[in-house]
Amino acid sequence: MQVYLDNAATTPLDPEVFEAMKPYLLDHFGNPSSIHSHGRQVRSAIEQSRRTIADLLNTSPAEIFFTSGGTEADNTAILCTVESSGLNHVITSRIEHHAVLHTVQHLEKAGKITVSYVQLDNTGNVDLQHLKQLLLSNGPSLVTLMHANNEIGNLTDISAVGELCKEHHSIFHSDTVQAMAHYPHDLQKIEVHCLAGSAHKFHGPKGIGFMYLKADHKICPFVHGGAQERNMRGGTENVTGIVGLAKALELAYQNMEEHQRYIQGLKTYMIDKLSDTVPGVTFNGLSSSPEGSLYTVLNVSLPATNDNEMLLFNLDINGVSASGGSACSSGTSVGSHVLTALGGDPNRGSVRFSFSKFNTIQEIDYVVQKLGVDLRSKV
Ligand code: PLP
Repeated sequence: MQVYLDNAATTPLDPEVFEAMKPYLLDHFGNPSSIHSHGRQVRSAIEQSRRTIADLLNTSPAEIFFTSGGTEADNTAILCTVESSGLNHVITSRIEHHAVLHTVQHLEKAGKITVSYVQLDNTGNVDLQHLKQLLLSNGPSLVTLMHANNEIGNLTDISAVGELCKEHHSIFHSDTVQAMAHYPHDLQKIEVHCLAGSAHKFHGPKGIGFMYLKADHKICPFVHGGAQERNMRGGTENVTGIVGLAKALELAYQNMEEHQRYIQGLKTYMIDKLSDTVPGVTFNGLSSSPEGSLYTVLNVSLPATNDNEMLLFNLDINGVSASGGSACSSGTSVGSHVLTALGGDPNRGSVRFSFSKFNTIQEIDYVVQKLGVDLRSKV
């Protein structure tokens, strides 16, 4: 049996998304910047896609900029905000994705900013009281905190963070890559200046994403060249990607509650099964909490064995794709920076299982059984 439980890394393309993209691979090939009919037809598909995304997020198409994915959206929001706003203090957390952490660290190294890390509790929750203190003592800042953590699934209350940022005249960027299309984002209700989406995390194609940029938050162009993306990002657009992105987001919004119920059901089933069959199993961060974490992510902490590193390898041999990485042991930087920041035990094995609408209960049974057999043979 082949089982794919690595949907936080990437998801399979939805066949309906592929059908929507196909005409823009085969028939409608014009350059969207050309003014003849071949070009106009493709321009219209891009602008219709932008409108679809804007409508779903309850915002204006002028605030949606297409990018090559989540990494580019995060980089752009952070680098261009610092360049354009004059802010020289950034607040973030130690469990952000590297698309955020490495960008912030790059600016710090270049001497352009100082960085404060907000405190987290031992399950990885952002301490909002500490965030408030940091805002009070440092003045207007760029705050970059993710909505949903890609390793442990923890959800941050981005509405509360946005309100705090507004109160303290600060800019708020949120990496929403893992939450986008899984939870509704109503941009008339959340006080956020920039956020990021990536199509391949919700059954769209790879290499395409978008950045939301609030109209009154002006930043410098991020790719110099032609006049594409309203002079902000030069270069001929990834038309098929854009069409696929909009279709994938549309499908996700149409069926969001149904998918949430179904996928949460798979996750709860796996939590129960593992708890019954694997002695000493625990769950990292808040990943076993239905309210506190993404319904798509379960980060399993397994009792120490003499070859924890073999866990993923053995799963792979049995046809199961998942991902992982334990907390780093002292003196090494190999492993998960997220579990390390939470003070995880480097001797325990950790596996991140992440689910999609295409997974089944039979697959979960198979994975739990293989994992149980593997552990029993080693303890
Ligand atoms: N941010 C988070 C939280 C992610 O999980 C990922 C992808 O793993 C990214 C950013 C990067 O997205 P992309 O692969 O589209 O560059």
